[in-house]
Amino acid sequence: MNRLTLRPSSAAATAPFAPFAPVALLAALAAQDAPPAAAAPVEPIADVVAAAVRSIDPARIERTVRALVGFGTRHVLSRTDSETEGTGAARKWLRDEFDAIAATSGGRLVVTLQSETVPCARPGMPTQVPIVNVIATLRGTSDPERVYVVGGHYDSRNSQGEDGRKAAPGAVDDASGTAVALEACRALAGRRFPATLVFVAYDGEEQGLIGSKAHAKALAAAGARVDGMIACDIVGNTLGMDGARHDRHLRCFSYAPSGNDSFGRSLARAAAFAARTHVPGFGVDLIFRGDRYGRGGDHRSFFDQGFPAVRFSEPREDFSRQHQDVVARDGKPYGDLPEWVDFAYSANVCRVVVATLAELASAPPPPRVLAAQLRRDRYDTEVVYELPAGAPRAEFVWRPTTAPDWTHVVGQDEAAPKPTRSDRLLATLAGVCLDDVVVGVRSVGADGSRSRVATPPEPDRFDARPRAGASGEAGR
Ligand SMILES: [Zn+2]
Repeated sequence: MNRLTLRPSSAAATAPFAPFAPVALLAALAAQDAPPAAAAPVEPIADVVAAAVRSIDPARIERTVRALVGFGTRHVLSRTDSETEGTGAARKWLRDEFDAIAATSGGRLVVTLQSETVPCARPGMPTQVPIVNVIATLRGTSDPERVYVVGGHYDSRNSQGEDGRKAAPGAVDDASGTAVALEACRALAGRRFPATLVFVAYDGEEQGLIGSKAHAKALAAAGARVDGMIACDIVGNTLGMDGARHDRHLRCFSYAPSGNDSFGRSLARAAAFAARTHVPGFGVDLIFRGDRYGRGGDHRSFFDQGFPAVRFSEPREDFSRQHQDVVARDGKPYGDLPEWVDFAYSANVCRVVVATLAELASAPPPPRVLAAQLRRDRYDTEVVYELPAGAPRAEFVWRPTTAPDWTHVVGQDEAAPKPTRSDRLLATLAGVCLDDVVVGVRSVGADGSRSRVATPPEPDRFDARPRAGASGEAGR
């Protein structure tokens, strides 16, 4: 089996990474006033995303879900010696699907299997369990060590968590998320993005996230800078247990160890922005909680490595279908079957995934925001930041402290950034009283793509404040 190698060519892997080049900032600023250079025309991000979003096909998502259910069970302990049953057959099918996409990508999409034996702490399970993640990597063209990941888990379970033999169809949980990751790969594999995109079918989620844990650790060990991970888990059922249909939005869960502007919250807002911009009529509901009560998902493994990560889930789960044997009790059906998947809904979730990934992987990395301060002579907020090398411009956002998402946007021309003594940039948000709002900065690419928003340290985060005297901008 192939070990995962996200590490790119040895030269790139060993080259020191220098995303922020202060000297280049002045040149970048000056370049805005210079006449446009003769360069290849840039395709607007709106067109790139629109084409990808249009290509998402609910019928292909349905085909994937039905194929995965057709293997009977995809439990980690199920058989691996059959072409038609069990987890071995399921991952072979998935690998063949990713390989078929790779065959049309001119060698740019690389499919690998991450095969490891990992610890498992679940009662009734062996203490060591073999897992195999199916991983398709579309290497970035100019910033390949910056990585965006989307994954669903292909493993499944029934009423007995340790049972590897009886049926465990796992259609909604989580053939639906796996199908979204595969379809997103189809939609984007033919494109070139500056950053790397990784599409994954995870093993072992039901046994303690052990597949994604192995993947997140391997990425961290390889030095990848994961700037966003989306776990699509339970993204197919739209009929609530109350009989109401919920098919116009998804729930986006994000952890927040450092307050409401954690990396995960920043990624969640980027997903909401991408949906608003590129997927009209379908929304991202920001849930300011890491996950549902007492539940977990593969985004947790990435959060644990310090990476921005979110979970996409349907609005109203039907618990009679999750982790259940396929039976009827008192005339009511139990079990996670394809009949309960709304494939048009899963396609919309996939559209949000594709829009988010394409936007972020096209954009420059987020800026580094060092400080914000309220002027002492008027109610203007000043933001001190560095733009990543090559980013043509920044955009500034703010919101009241109690608002979930950004409410105001200020362009670079209006904020008029000036170089500081220490070669950083200082932008001014006129009439914005910093004490009552959160401000942030995002990078904007030449194609109009937007990065995640970066924010300055909150005033009560003393540990994250620049040290007094360390910066000429702070603490005056
Ligand atoms: Zn799941």
